[in-house]
Amino acid sequence: MPRYENRVQLALALLVGVLLLANLFTLTLVALTPATRAARAPVLFTVFLLTLVVSVPSILLLPRWLLRPYRQLVDEAERAPVEASARGRARDESEFVLETFQEVVAQLRAKQRELERLSARAAERAATAEQFSERVVASLPSGLVAFNSEGRATVVNAPARALLGIGGGSGEDFRPLLSRAHGLAEMVEHCLKTGELYRREEVTAKSDSGRARRLGVTVAPIDPAQAGGSRGVLCMLTDITEVAELREALARRRNLESLGEMSAGLAHEFKNSLATLHGYAQLLQNAGLDARARETATSGLLAEVRGLSEMVTSFLNFARPNPPDFADVSLRELLDNSAADLRQLFEERRAALAVEGEFPGVRADEAMLRRALLNLLRNAAEAIPDDAAERRVNVRGSVERDDAGRDWVLVEVEDTGAGIAEEDLQRIFIPFFTTKSKGHGVGLALSHRVATDHGGTLSASNTADGGARFTLRLPA
Ligand code: ADP
Repeated sequence: MPRYENRVQLALALLVGVLLLANLFTLTLVALTPATRAARAPVLFTVFLLTLVVSVPSILLLPRWLLRPYRQLVDEAERAPVEASARGRARDESEFVLETFQEVVAQLRAKQRELERLSARAAERAATAEQFSERVVASLPSGLVAFNSEGRATVVNAPARALLGIGGGSGEDFRPLLSRAHGLAEMVEHCLKTGELYRREEVTAKSDSGRARRLGVTVAPIDPAQAGGSRGVLCMLTDITEVAELREALARRRNLESLGEMSAGLAHEFKNSLATLHGYAQLLQNAGLDARARETATSGLLAEVRGLSEMVTSFLNFARPNPPDFADVSLRELLDNSAADLRQLFEERRAALAVEGEFPGVRADEAMLRRALLNLLRNAAEAIPDDAAERRVNVRGSVERDDAGRDWVLVEVEDTGAGIAEEDLQRIFIPFFTTKSKGHGVGLALSHRVATDHGGTLSASNTADGGARFTLRLPA
């Protein structure tokens, strides 16, 4: 609108100018032509009239146009957020405008000073926060390394440099930086690509002296929202060499202990069998033995030898297992077949078997897995005491996802037996541990081996009702 008005003003000014020029031109012509006064009069009158018509409105409008910016200034000054007292003191309009604008300028200056003060304080705070986080990073007892989305180190604190055996590190690519800890480099690469989190993993890093150090590492993606839209990676490293060595020493001691228990169990089994065989042999030596007694002694001896041989075979299966031959296996089918194999035992034990839940396919060695499931089901049926009122074995299948996003198939075998004594819970997986008069104690050790050979676990606990619960966990 103001631009349009400006154009109209310009056009009018031009028009007035042109008209005045035309009048001047006409007057000059009239003055130069030799005409009588009477002849000049109408021309002069017309020029006078035209000049009057154009000039009067122009003279009336001109002050308005000239004063328009001033009026706008006054209007703006009235609207300006300035204290009323400042206005009240003004003597006339121009003074009022002047005072208003002086006041506005003063306020603006005050605001500018306030802004400068605030921004200085913000900068000071940012610097303090930065110093604080730098101090925190530097004084952390664990190693800390951060990489940007291109895999270049943005932070490497002193413990990290010591653990990784590097110098500066900042700005370097993660591959050369982590060349002494390949496992960690792989995790960082994968995390940069997929954002996968690695929690409390263990890697080895070679030190300058060539000694391998064991590092506990957590590799976490840095939220892209906080890293300017692209994903970075944060690594936290701790030296766990001593802890790992202690743990392994303990495991070796435990192995030796279980080896001791295992040998004692094996010796016990052999001693029992030898005593029985000795008895039968003495019986057979007796010349006065009739044919029936001889027949009984011979079949007893043979049965004992067969039992011993079975035990040795189971033990060898445990001690020298064949590597698993993996194939797609339907757990549900395997369980149904195992149940069919054990139908007679379940009938004898008057136990009902119920299989329910989800059983997805797994990659497994079918024969090995079948042996493990048969052991669990057989034990469950045998664990139910003769006088128990409730005689049930429940098998429940389910799928579970762990923190790392991996799926696991869980097979839980529960019975209504008397459960497992607290002190036996850790020992039942040791070969030859048995609480049964005719047990060999090899079944659970073998099942446990099958689970670990498949990358899974087998654990035991007691149910709320007091029965035993075995949980076989296999990768889905
Ligand atoms: P065995 O059955 O020959 O004793 P296992 O290795 O199969 O050998 O079992 C070892 C021991 O674990 C058993 O003697 C028993 O004490 C305990 N056990 C196994 N399954 C169960 C169960 N379902 N309930 C209670 N105890 C069990």
